[in-house]
Amino acid sequence: MKLIQINRHGGPEVLEWADAPEPVVGSGQALIRQTAIGLNFIDTYHRSGLYPLAFPAGLGMEAAGIVEAVGAGVGALAPGDRVAYCSPPPGAYAEKRALAAERLVKLPAGVSERTAAAAMLKGLTAWYLLRRSYPARRGDSVLAYAAAGGVGLILGQWARSLGVRAIGVASTAEKAALARANGYAEVILADAPGFVARVRELTGGEGVAAVYDSVGKLTFTQSLDCLRKHGVMVSYGNASGPVEAFTPLELSRRGSLYVTRPSLFDFIAARADLEEGAGELFALIASGAVKVHIGQTYPLAETARAHRDLEGRRTTGSTVLLP
Ligand code: NDP
Repeated sequence: MKLIQINRHGGPEVLEWADAPEPVVGSGQALIRQTAIGLNFIDTYHRSGLYPLAFPAGLGMEAAGIVEAVGAGVGALAPGDRVAYCSPPPGAYAEKRALAAERLVKLPAGVSERTAAAAMLKGLTAWYLLRRSYPARRGDSVLAYAAAGGVGLILGQWARSLGVRAIGVASTAEKAALARANGYAEVILADAPGFVARVRELTGGEGVAAVYDSVGKLTFTQSLDCLRKHGVMVSYGNASGPVEAFTPLELSRRGSLYVTRPSLFDFIAARADLEEGAGELFALIASGAVKVHIGQTYPLAETARAHRDLEGRRTTGSTVLLP
């Protein structure tokens, strides 16, 4: 079978399209013939070495497909089941995969494998951001970066379904329009002059209840400035580089703020949490409250091009790689 692997960290050029033996299904595992693979920004951190790996390493944290075989002790799945996952270890960029059955969720009839590969990791991220990291309440205003991105488009629609007023940030007018069509009440351009003043103006001078900041280094201080008293800074990504060290006094000066730096995998480590989040996500997709926008697809062999486009801010919504 074919897969993508890396033997050193670096730019998209380190991605190799390689041959590998078919995985053998172990005890407690299921063998999946993968039909759609989700591209996520975390894959670029694994590739670059921001999150280091041991070589040779696979990449990719999310996929959907058909179960071909199950190992000893697996009762909940059978060959032919349609499943999806978002889980470490990296290695989803492959035609076939053997993975712990406990990490797989069965797909409801209305959810295609492409939709699942586009929505599992990004949708469960929107779930824990809005429901766990800062449980947003009806009437709250929140600020979210990369509003037209994979996580962003799902988060905007999810917020709207909760009665939460989401203010999005996007880099172009086209992306801003897409974000507005996907749940955001307002969208501010990333480089707009008077950014913080605009957020204050949109919140009656008060500031937002929470900021969901995936940009990291470049926006951290600006995000703190946008919060209301006791507001929650959820710093969940590093698209511009990791956030630099800061003193907690910065939180006191701005009104007794809270900061958290969460990771999805801590919120779905327990099977019950994975099922709860996936259940809420699939229900929102089934009801039409969340429409999953696949902005672009690439053959798996052309994953390097997909990485270039994602890092170059040329994608919108979710990106799916096709084996
Ligand atoms: P996106 O589809 O959102 O793509 C990234 C977007 O970030 C770009 O389209 C761009 O939108 C924006 N961006 C802002 N600054 C930069 C920059 N300097 N370089 C590149 N892009 C930039 O990706 P994902 O949906 O896969 O992920 C979104 C973010 O969420 C990532 O930062 C990711 O690491 C984080 N994440 C964190 C998780 C966690 O649990 N901690 C889980 C899942 C995702 P624009 O041009 O509009 O600014």
